[in-house]
Amino acid sequence: MTVSITVQQTARPQGLPTPADFEFVHGPVPDPAPGSALVENLYLSVDPYHRELMDEEPLRTPLEGRAIGRVVLSRDPALAEGDLVLHRQGWRTHAVVTAGAAGTRRIRHYEGVPLSAHLGILGGTGLTAYVALTRILKLRAGEDLFVTAAAGGVGTAAGRIARLLGAGRIIGSAGSRKKVEYLTDGVGYDAAFDYHDGPVGDSLAKAAPDGVHAVVENVGGDHLEGAIAGLRDFGRIAWVGAVSQYNNLAQPPAAPRNLFDIVAKSIRLEGVLVRDHRDAQEELEDFLVPHLRSGRVTSDETVIEGFEGILDGFIGMLSGSNTGKLLIHIGD
Ligand code: NAP
Repeated sequence: MTVSITVQQTARPQGLPTPADFEFVHGPVPDPAPGSALVENLYLSVDPYHRELMDEEPLRTPLEGRAIGRVVLSRDPALAEGDLVLHRQGWRTHAVVTAGAAGTRRIRHYEGVPLSAHLGILGGTGLTAYVALTRILKLRAGEDLFVTAAAGGVGTAAGRIARLLGAGRIIGSAGSRKKVEYLTDGVGYDAAFDYHDGPVGDSLAKAAPDGVHAVVENVGGDHLEGAIAGLRDFGRIAWVGAVSQYNNLAQPPAAPRNLFDIVAKSIRLEGVLVRDHRDAQEELEDFLVPHLRSGRVTSDETVIEGFEGILDGFIGMLSGSNTGKLLIHIGD
């Protein structure tokens, strides 16, 4: 490719973003200075937190984000041409990276494991699910688990990892009948429900009449309320995200209305930020790679082909168009 393209945000969205809030900016392929390397991106990750960034980050600068690319020209002795690297300068076709920069690392190649998994179940998405289950919830064998936004990247990874950890019943909520079927038939959830069918707490009570021990909560609002309602005494919640609120963060959510049940049921609610747990990356890979190789586990993903699909992918993901981790594939 002789031209480099970045995506820049040009306006602050009200509610759900639209393509008019962004611009594709063409320029020359950057020339890496001594000590850095030019990377041609292959996969880009677009994530719910990008919607949060859109309220804060300066306009008309390329958006950050995780990406996997191949080094095509290196002036950094620590990077060789052909190396595959993960970095945080996504939403662009080319990036200039240095081996020592925060968020940049060479990807370890595992025979039989697809490259895209390094942005999915082996990447920040899988790491979020893994630390929520092992460090925050400390899930024990036989314990029942509820996962919200279960058919997304973190949700599918949480279901698969919880199964490997010996969870009891695993129950998920998602936004369509098709996703519910995917969870039970494809991911290995024991039960799932469409949150449009009624209050989350009621649907969870039907799926788990005795309550659950632990929750991975990705949605916030009415889902957090339902999770509190569906927990047993001394239950635990790993609060990972609030995707139902990112389009209107300034507006306080109407739910949860049952916060005091956290006291009444001696529930522990703990927030989790994956960036505080980067040290668990190697542990995650040691744990999952044998299962990925054997085929017992797959990295669930929806892949959009072509750089020009990044906006539809991102906006669609915020409305639930994806199953598993949403990725943009721009090169081989
Ligand atoms: P994802 O779940 O793959 O995609 C977002 C999903 O959210 C959509 O597919 C949609 O699925 C669901 N959704 C959107 N609006 C909703 C609403 N109003 N009510 C219920 N569900 C809604 O995204 P992800 O990357 O795996 O992230 C999932 C959550 O984890 C997000 O909250 C994200 O911010 C959080 N996260 C946190 C960390 C951390 O460090 N704390 C790291 C990674 C991700 P449906 O079709 O089911 O509605």
